[in-house]
Amino acid sequence: MIKSIKGTRDILPPESALWSRVENTAREIFERYGFAEVRTPIFESTELFARGVGADTDIVSKEMYTFEDRDERSLTLRPEGTAPVVRAHIEHRLQQETSIAKLYYLGPMFRRERPQKGRYRQFHQIGAEVLGSDNPAIEAEVLEMLQFFLRLLGIQDQTLLVNSIGCPACRPQFLEHLKRSLAEKKTGLCPDCQRRSETNPLRVLDCKVESCQPAIESLPKISDFLDSACRAHFEKFLGYLASRQVAFTIVPRLVRGLDYYTRTTFEITSGALGAQNTLIGGGRYDGLAEALGGPSTKGFGFALGLERILLVLQDRGNPPDPLTPQVYLAPLGERAFDTATLIAKCMRENGIRCFLDFDARSLKSHLRLANKLGSLYALIFGEVELQAGNYQLKQMTNGEQTTLTPDELMRAAESSGQADLRTSILKALFLARSTYHF
Ligand code: ATP
Ligand code: MG
Repeated sequence: MIKSIKGTRDILPPESALWSRVENTAREIFERYGFAEVRTPIFESTELFARGVGADTDIVSKEMYTFEDRDERSLTLRPEGTAPVVRAHIEHRLQQETSIAKLYYLGPMFRRERPQKGRYRQFHQIGAEVLGSDNPAIEAEVLEMLQFFLRLLGIQDQTLLVNSIGCPACRPQFLEHLKRSLAEKKTGLCPDCQRRSETNPLRVLDCKVESCQPAIESLPKISDFLDSACRAHFEKFLGYLASRQVAFTIVPRLVRGLDYYTRTTFEITSGALGAQNTLIGGGRYDGLAEALGGPSTKGFGFALGLERILLVLQDRGNPPDPLTPQVYLAPLGERAFDTATLIAKCMRENGIRCFLDFDARSLKSHLRLANKLGSLYALIFGEVELQAGNYQLKQMTNGEQTTLTPDELMRAAESSGQADLRTSILKALFLARSTYHF
């Protein structure tokens, strides 16, 4: 038997309904805040990520799915969404003089990591980017939006962690001190951190290994090295968060693993997750567009891990929206079935979730299936009833059954205003009869 690849998952019903709910909530809220969707290709030239994410990062150095195409060009399955969005922004000259660009995306990302709970090789992100401004008020607005989004999903247990990692003007001084301090503490660090302290010392701060923590605690803090512009930016950002009543915690060790980040960085974590507790990560990346060969463009954005949002929702026993039928059609006999196909067409065109089985069934067997599917109503008719224009409508929740007559259907069709489900079913049935002449 052929199985799915390690680190990938099939998203099956009913879990897939929960996915749609999260995606739809994101779309609705992000669009309300002025973000428009972009869809970039699943694969890009390897160079985009080498330059845009940084060769020293874990992503580029060991996690990418890179392969040579038949024309020997090196391609990579996208491991993240920011570099592709910025590439598209440059390529299509989306930079506008008058306004910032607000873009969001959702879709699969690929990283060859060790699969575990909340960590996959194909995983899904929803992200958004604001391009064209370095105003800290934008950062606060994005965080307000994220908090609203999580609240709508019912995720209360979340913490916003913030920090500033300075800019190319002030970070080198900090890195000097950091390197010197790391050299003294090298023996107390894990092998990964020993390597990082040479190649990407900032990343040591981000290490999650327990035995590294005492050494990390005693390292210099970047907040002591910010220049006056970066400090002012950070303070404004915190002030805006406070006035919008967005709660936060400053974490001096919070850095992002990606080279292009400047100034504001943040994470939203959830206590409901275990070791992989980061739900959302993001920050400012004022140097990225230039690193990709475009005009200087300030940027701020985030990416959230959909699998982790789903883990939190499932932990809370959040039941997926059941897509149960609103009406089950129970035709008795072959001619009644043929008519049922037309009723089903009309019901569906008029917004009713309608179920029609393709096997010939007895009344008893129909009702058993309607019950099993959780249908709200069953519409029962045989050939004799069709001739007379009479139908049995059974409310499955209480077993109440009424006979629908042509008069009653006509009255429903003529009624105006917001229709309840029963009236909508009657209206669609009337429409089916007059359209298909039965
Ligand atoms: P982590 O420290 O958990 O590896 P990261 O720094 O690599 O995270 P980002 O690149 O900032 O994460 O990605 C943003 C979000 O995407 C993360 O906060 C997380 O929710 C999610 N994410 C990242 N990698 C994976 C993965 N392999 N599987 C599932 N979700 C992931
Ligand atoms: Mg990672």
